[in-house]
Amino acid sequence: MRQHYRPAKINRRDFIKIMSAAGLLALVGGYCGYKFSKSGAKAKVVVIGGGAAGISVAARLMRNLAYPDVTIIDPSTLHFYQPGFTLIGGGVYGEHDVYRQQEDCIPDGAKWIKDSVVALDPDKRIIKTAGGQSVSYDFLVLTPGLQIDWNGVEGISLKTLGEGDAYCIYDHQGAVKTWRGIQKFVKNGGRGVYTDTYTKHKCGGAPKKICLLTEHLSRKQNARDKLKLDFFTASKELYDVPFFTKRLLEIYDERDVSITLNTRVKGVDTSAKKVYMQRISKTKKQIKLPDGSIKEEEVQTITPVVENYDFLHFLPPMYGPKFIREAGLAVEGGALEREGWAAVDKYTLVHPKYSNIVCLGDASSLPTSKTSAAIRKQVPIATANLISLMEGKTPEKKYDGYAACPIITDYGHVLLCEFDYDKKEMISFPFSMLDMSHEQWAAWLLKVYALKPMYFYGMLKGLA
Ligand SMILES: Cc1cc2nc3c(=O)[nH]c(=O)nc-3n(C[C@H](O)[C@H](O)[C@H](O)COP(=O)(O)OP(=O)(O)OC[C@H]3O[C@@H](n4cnc5c(N)ncnc54)[C@H](O)[C@@H]3O)c2cc1C
Repeated sequence: MRQHYRPAKINRRDFIKIMSAAGLLALVGGYCGYKFSKSGAKAKVVVIGGGAAGISVAARLMRNLAYPDVTIIDPSTLHFYQPGFTLIGGGVYGEHDVYRQQEDCIPDGAKWIKDSVVALDPDKRIIKTAGGQSVSYDFLVLTPGLQIDWNGVEGISLKTLGEGDAYCIYDHQGAVKTWRGIQKFVKNGGRGVYTDTYTKHKCGGAPKKICLLTEHLSRKQNARDKLKLDFFTASKELYDVPFFTKRLLEIYDERDVSITLNTRVKGVDTSAKKVYMQRISKTKKQIKLPDGSIKEEEVQTITPVVENYDFLHFLPPMYGPKFIREAGLAVEGGALEREGWAAVDKYTLVHPKYSNIVCLGDASSLPTSKTSAAIRKQVPIATANLISLMEGKTPEKKYDGYAACPIITDYGHVLLCEFDYDKKEMISFPFSMLDMSHEQWAAWLLKVYALKPMYFYGMLKGLA
């Protein structure tokens, strides 16, 4: 192993100051930041998807409309706090720490149709559900999240997660199995292969976190020498927010975890413990045109790669829900269209063609990270703009692309990456005493102890 890994430290007194200030800021921000008096607008609002985004918008609508008529369509019995899946996979949270009954999350006074949307006609303003219902609306909140294509990696599916030591924390039970798998791997040793995927996906930090947690666990158990750890990303860089990338690369180097770029996972042979990938390389080729001039063209070469593993953590590809594309609500052009993300104005969060639709969260094509931290900032904007539209006014609130990804770097530290549309850091942690370009103990406490209650009792209640 390289230079001994030693994360930054703060003392307890500083920490207490920080948490008190953070609590105060959260309260002040939550209650006052986007507070507006109740609107008298009357219209039927339907929310498709009661996840992080849908429930939070519905809760704000219930608080801010004098005569709310809000219906949520969602088939789930349980509401998962998905950021906790990584902590289950790392053995910090237990299986039952991350969910509530959906009926307890539905805001008081809102109606709940426990069904899935299968089709939508935005011109007629009619929604069809799997159960055969037709639901009409005046205004629509489009928040069905994304679809994980669990059959998108050959040789493994949601049902067979864990078989042949191939794991994924992007599912609740998958996370439970991952923790068992990591413990076995650290005990027995071998080669750990970690991948992400080639489509846009939620929480790009999660595969990195589970890799770094495995590494630290092995050190805690004096087993680091038994493990070889390799991280493969489909992207052209490990992380694309320069303020944080430098330190993240240093951490991977200090911890002796290799990084291979431009590599996509395609399939797994769980019985042979082999993972099939494709390495994408791009070269410039000069082409002679009929008029004798020379044009430079980019040529993509795909090279198949097979890697052996003893422990695999992979990500399947992810897409926008099919009914969004079929309804003509997806973005047009390029990879985003192929992946089917909903079109939306990146500032107002209003659909560019249908001004009675707002869209936010993972289903949207917003050019920022798909995280609930981003959604927390999108919700007040989408709600305020929706109410303006209901009142016949122009939507004026603007979202700056804020997203956050708390990259857990070990059991006790988090590199809290916060940034905007321009990939410029947006540090919201109080005081400048902490160097947020480095991993911090205070950010770990925030991640493990503060964010989950903030989610269930603040964000989902329309308060934070
Ligand atoms: C492993 C993992 C780690 C993560 N870590 C973090 C983190 O550290 N920090 C962070 O901020 N974020 C993190 N996230 C991302 C975060 O959880 C998501 O960005 C967030 O939950 C997305 O919210 P959403 O409302 O858009 O979608 P979801 O919360 O997924 O909700 C979508 C809802 O829509 C419903 N639905 C789906 N299809 C239909 C349909 N056809 N009809 C009706 N309803 C439908 C679903 O049942 C669901 O309730 C993580 C996610 C994962 C999986």
